[in-house]
Amino acid sequence: MLENYTEEIFEAIKISIKRDNEYIGLHEPCFKGTNALSYLKDCIESGWVSSAGSWIERLEKKICEFTGANFAIAVTNGSVGLRLALHTIGVKPFDEVIIPPLTFVATANAISHLGAIPHFVDINKDNLGMCHKSLQRRLESIAEKKSGFVINVKTGRKITAIMPVHIFGIPANIVEIKKVADNWGLPIIEDAAEALGSRHFINGGYTHCGLNGEIGVFSFNGNKIITTGGGGILITNNKQIAKKCRYLSSTAKSSHPWEFNHTEIGWNDRMPNINAALGVSQLEAINEKLELKKNLFKTYQNNFSNIEGIEIIEDLTKNIKNNWLINLRFLDKNKENALLKREILLKKAHSKKILLRPVWKLLHTLEMYKNSPRGNLNVAEDQEARLISLPSSPQLFLTKK
Ligand SMILES: *Cc1c(COP(=O)(O)O)cnc(C)c1O
Repeated sequence: MLENYTEEIFEAIKISIKRDNEYIGLHEPCFKGTNALSYLKDCIESGWVSSAGSWIERLEKKICEFTGANFAIAVTNGSVGLRLALHTIGVKPFDEVIIPPLTFVATANAISHLGAIPHFVDINKDNLGMCHKSLQRRLESIAEKKSGFVINVKTGRKITAIMPVHIFGIPANIVEIKKVADNWGLPIIEDAAEALGSRHFINGGYTHCGLNGEIGVFSFNGNKIITTGGGGILITNNKQIAKKCRYLSSTAKSSHPWEFNHTEIGWNDRMPNINAALGVSQLEAINEKLELKKNLFKTYQNNFSNIEGIEIIEDLTKNIKNNWLINLRFLDKNKENALLKREILLKKAHSKKILLRPVWKLLHTLEMYKNSPRGNLNVAEDQEARLISLPSSPQLFLTKK
């Protein structure tokens, strides 16, 4: 029974995608038909390969155009970008930063790298992002405002930021989260690592993910929607914040033609020109990638529409999602059944070299975060057992049937 059922699921995956390679990963980079080589050649021939150069400015300008942000600061990767963003808005050692537990480990690590502590609140089932109601309940039950700070009365520590994540590129409930954050006077950093091309529908128009809090951060890792090899970028509409990010990312060096004057402990976070050149060539192709991914999503949805007990996760709001990773959800009443089916499907797919992945282990179950403060995480614990990510590279879309 289970064997036939998972075979049916596996068949639906197989017929949905184009297979040119022996291995099918979850999300693979693609440089075909782009200007990548000629832009890289320019860096090498000019000698501008390191953390200054015109391609960095070009990439930052293009990201501003694409997202509508006023400012963009390119960095070496998304993890570093999150840490820089948190540092810039004033997160200090032993502060707590609120995040969801269902995310890539980098979200929590960025907090820990500053000596601060992640504090987990639950997600909602629809978009898998932070649940604003859980956030509000948690703050009401453990937090107090005292002399301009928000204090976790259970731990005695300050809570200094909220960092929602747009999981798999599906926009989280940012308007509602922001209302709660504003009530408490807490800043928002958006982990938009997976969400380039995703937009919130707000007040009759679209706002790109990453622009509803103080700072938004994207990743350009090889498995993200576009890549610079490794890299990331911060966006913000706040000039002061942008200035401070740039300053802290380049060793906090005062501007001067020859003097080395550093006014605080900064970082070396700037993206090299050679990565930025690759990034510009990728960004030139992003609309095409988004279109292919939308079509791939529809193909999966069609091919799964007749299989019971399982669904392709969709977003029924007016928000736009980039379909970074397309996911299946097992709908079994009992989550143990979902786990069992998922295990069989994973084994089958991997034996055929289609490298499906379950969602990340919940962060509060990892050794280093097992003692982190948390609210009730029932939804995350239930959903974690049910999710499986499908191959989602835009180049997998079958143009002809
Ligand atoms: C990829 C990712 C990051 C980290 O980005 P890197 O560029 O790999 O450091 C952070 N958060 C989330 C949710 C991610 O998916």
